[in-house]
This record gives sequence, structure tokens and C-alpha cells, in this order.
Amino acid sequence: MTPSIEETLLSAIRTIPDYPKPGILFRDITTLLGNARAFRRAIDELVHPYAGEKVGKIAGIEARGFILGGAIAHQLSAGFVPIRKKGKLPHETVRVAYSLEYGLDEMEMHKDGVAPGEKVILVDDLIATGGTAEAAVKLLRQIGADIVAACFIIDLPDLGGRKKLEALNVPVRTLIAFD
Ligand code: AMP
Repeated sequence: MTPSIEETLLSAIRTIPDYPKPGILFRDITTLLGNARAFRRAIDELVHPYAGEKVGKIAGIEARGFILGGAIAHQLSAGFVPIRKKGKLPHETVRVAYSLEYGLDEMEMHKDGVAPGEKVILVDDLIATGGTAEAAVKLLRQIGADIVAACFIIDLPDLGGRKKLEALNVPVRTLIAFD
């Protein structure tokens, strides 16, 4: 019998305790990416609600969102646009500051990365507090994107990220939750 998507993901995602610092359970998707069947299944499962949507761009958050976003863009016949840490993009950008655990950081995207009114799906591997994705939503909306959804393989629901995005009217799709 084919395992459920949850069983597939549970066995393919590796958990590293105390990385990058004590007390954090790091959910490592490199083992999922290296498993051809599990990787394909995760991408198929993430995209299937959007198959008829005419999505123009997939916006991927650096760095794991690039890998997933490229595969999703191919599957949906959409373009891909990178959202990066500041100073990495060569052309004119829009920029937003967001708070990390210690201090502030900034992320950017090209001003012409998305056309006004274009349908966009935002992608990253995991949503925790939602601070990173919220900043990406602000950037995309600054340039007039119509955000169809934000997709993540993993949700850490105790940290409240999904609710944060839903409060901004961004539908959230995730495939597996960890406490
Ligand atoms: P947040 O802004 O709190 O939602 O954090 C999400 C970002 O941090 C994503 O880009 C994740 O890749 C990364 N991240 C946060 N917590 C974890 C975790 N426990 N395991 C792996 N990545 C994480």
C-alpha cells in the first residue's frame, strides 16, 4: 500500500536536535530533497490545488524556498522570482526590514520581479513564527502582487505563523505539522 503523504514526509525529513543552538529541533529537508520519490510527492501534493489557477510567478524565499519554488514553478508552468537577503540582487529592488530573534534583518526582491496584479504563490520550506513569510508578503504587496497562497512543507503551529499570514488574508497550505 502507498504510504500516506504524512508517513512519507515523516520518514523523509530528518530532525537535528540542538541545531543551530540548544533547544531548537531543526527540521532538515535535505534528506527529503535527496529522496526522489518523496521530493516529487511533496511537490505534487503542494501544487495540486493550484493546477487550474493561472499563477504567473512562484516567489521563493532564500534559500530552501528556491529549491522548492523552482520545482513548483515548473509544475505549474509559472515563472520564478527570488526573495533574497539584502545586497544579493543586481537590479533595482524593493526592501523590507523584519525582526529576527536577535535584531533586525532585511530582505529584497527586484522591483520588476512581479507585474502589478500578477498572481503569485509564496514558497518556503517551513513556517515557524511567520516573521519571514510576513516580510515576504509585504514585499510582494508593495509591488502589487496578488498573493494566491503561501505554501510550506512544514508547519510549527505552536509558533503561530499560519495565523499571522491568515490575518493578512493570505491562505496558507502546509503538508505536515510538528509540535
Ligand atoms: P519564521 O520566520 O519564524 O517563520 O522562520 C521561518 C524560517 O526559518 C524558514 O526560512 C525556515 O527555513 C527557518 N526555520 C525556522 N525554524 C526552523 C526549524 N525548527 N527547522 C528548520 N528551519 C527553521
